[in-house]
Amino acid sequence: MGCCVRAPSPVSPEGADKKVRRTVPPRVPRANGWSLPLHPFQVMSWVMFLVLAFTIFFIFIPLLPHVWKLTAYGVTGGCFFLYLIVHLVAVSVDPAEASVRHRKSYRQEAPSFDRSKQPHVIQNRFCCLCRVAVGPKTKHCSACNKCVAGFDHHCKWLNNCVGSRNYWFFLSSVALALAGLLCVAAILTCVFVQYVISPMWLRSDPSFRVVTNVKTWLLFLPFAPMKTKASVLLGIGVFVALLTLSGLVVLGHLLIFHLYLST
Ligand SMILES: [Zn+2]
Ligand SMILES: [Zn+2]
Repeated sequence: MGCCVRAPSPVSPEGADKKVRRTVPPRVPRANGWSLPLHPFQVMSWVMFLVLAFTIFFIFIPLLPHVWKLTAYGVTGGCFFLYLIVHLVAVSVDPAEASVRHRKSYRQEAPSFDRSKQPHVIQNRFCCLCRVAVGPKTKHCSACNKCVAGFDHHCKWLNNCVGSRNYWFFLSSVALALAGLLCVAAILTCVFVQYVISPMWLRSDPSFRVVTNVKTWLLFLPFAPMKTKASVLLGIGVFVALLTLSGLVVLGHLLIFHLYLST
């Protein structure tokens, strides 16, 4: 194909929008969300997940009375675990067009696109960069530099394209993340309310029997109790609450948007 030349300065292939068009595609097509380089948003989502999991499971849930504690561990743990599984699948799936997955070697450099010779990367259902026939809903992602079946969008949080092969996992991971965040919000609300109206309700763990000062709290119950001031506990709580709130707003908006598009 005349449009595919190995030019020294690559021109972006067709993307989902004009902003994507200006990005320089990777020389070697990306296989999935684990392909380097990792995206900062992807790393940020992992850090947020670890911070939320660590604080809620090791600091706040242990403050709840026994039955509440078991329920919170079960429900929140279930949401976090399922989210992790579905998220990892969405990141690991290669959403490329079947013909690309079967024919293309991800170790070979893709040719560059010369827009002066052809306006679109895909014409007459043939991609001049992947050099394969493609389906009607396929688009060539400029960030991954490959054709993606049922292209929806390139997700920076997954560092992977979302297409027909991993769309369900992507949407499920958003829904499960929201469910997990709602659990965190409910636990934090419970802790804050009880701290104000009945602080002793949060001190039922046997480790509190040796703590005489009511303004001293324990973190990392029950196995590694660490004494701290009330202000530190509340400060961590406010930080986690803000993190949770921002996640609820962003993911809630994302889920509603995708559900609206699917109707
Ligand atoms: Zn392509
Ligand atoms: Zn992509």
